[in-house]
Amino acid sequence: MKFNTKTIHGKQHPDKAYGAVMPPIYQTSTYAQTTPGGHKGFAYSRSHNPTRHALENAFASIENGEFGLAFGSGLAAIDAVMKLLKPGDEVISTNDLYGGTYRLFTSIFEGFGIKFHFVGMENAANIENYINEKTKLIWVETPTNPMLNIIDIKAVALIAKKHGVLLSVDNTFATPYLQQPLDLGADIVMHSATKYIGGHSDLVMGALIVKDKDLADKLYFIQNASGAICGPQDSFLALRGIKTLHVRMQRHCENGKAVAEYLASHPKVESVYWPGFKNHLNHNIAKTQMKDFGGMLSFNTKGNNYEEAIKVVENLKIFTLAESLGGVESLVGHPASMTHASIPKAEREKIGVVDSLIRLSVGIEDEEDLINDLKQALG
Ligand SMILES: *Cc1c(COP(=O)(O)O)cnc(C)c1O
Repeated sequence: MKFNTKTIHGKQHPDKAYGAVMPPIYQTSTYAQTTPGGHKGFAYSRSHNPTRHALENAFASIENGEFGLAFGSGLAAIDAVMKLLKPGDEVISTNDLYGGTYRLFTSIFEGFGIKFHFVGMENAANIENYINEKTKLIWVETPTNPMLNIIDIKAVALIAKKHGVLLSVDNTFATPYLQQPLDLGADIVMHSATKYIGGHSDLVMGALIVKDKDLADKLYFIQNASGAICGPQDSFLALRGIKTLHVRMQRHCENGKAVAEYLASHPKVESVYWPGFKNHLNHNIAKTQMKDFGGMLSFNTKGNNYEEAIKVVENLKIFTLAESLGGVESLVGHPASMTHASIPKAEREKIGVVDSLIRLSVGIEDEEDLINDLKQALG
């Protein structure tokens, strides 16, 4: 089955009770038993819920995995992965990282005795400098948020395999429409399903997808034991989002390209970060591991002026100033004061998240309207 068919049919079946094509929202915490333990595989909704299971199967299908797990947020999904580790273990992580992931690693898990190395992975070989016998996990985000750095998943996977270390990839920006990390050798794919998978800015959710049964069992145990599940209503919405993922992504990519090219030609713009440009670092890797270049991009206004950047952000009318990304509507963000405010200024400026950086999540509106909006805001 090809991807565009999988989004609609992959591991999905009409509901057994009445043949409903969309799974009913099983808004229940518990299930009747005929005798203690006498139930139909569903005893309590933290452990099992039919709507969530339908979604988890769809997650597995679109990422070419065997097992999917849905969580109450992307960070809850990452939290579950980290609970595979023990005090003393070490993690090698991408240095340009979603701010909340950085906060979870440094403010929560460092306190539990896990050591993190934040490493530039644009050259994958750099990772080997940080591997030792305590290394248990490599955490990759690609394209990265907000600098759109590209990391060679296949090359990192080879290093991970060689040293017997797990590789987890945050695939939120690319989505499985553009990139399928399990096929490239990753062990775990993670999503903030809040973004492109949900696609309509109406839910907060996370996902993990794996191929290996033992790894899946460990993660299911953590999901149930720690309990950071998502509810049935949100599961239904995410499942509905998945069914249009491919058409939305196609338009996100088309509009992203148009906006990136327009900004690159604008006299008031200093630099544009978009993996589709030939001079973008690792453009050739993006070309081979991704189907297209996505709808996310960042740019700097000339002079790297904070006030100027804030003015542009405030003047935009169709692009809404808001946190988050990946919805049908175009959003604009100021990473230094919003999504990445939890990263110390010196740390974020090292990787390019300067005060004048503006991030766009290009939506699926009319391309000309989006460009005209940027034109008036920059003017
Ligand atoms: C938003 C986001 C997260 C966190 O997900 P939540 O659903 O907000 O908890 C993690 N990684 C990336 C790349 C994100 O954009």
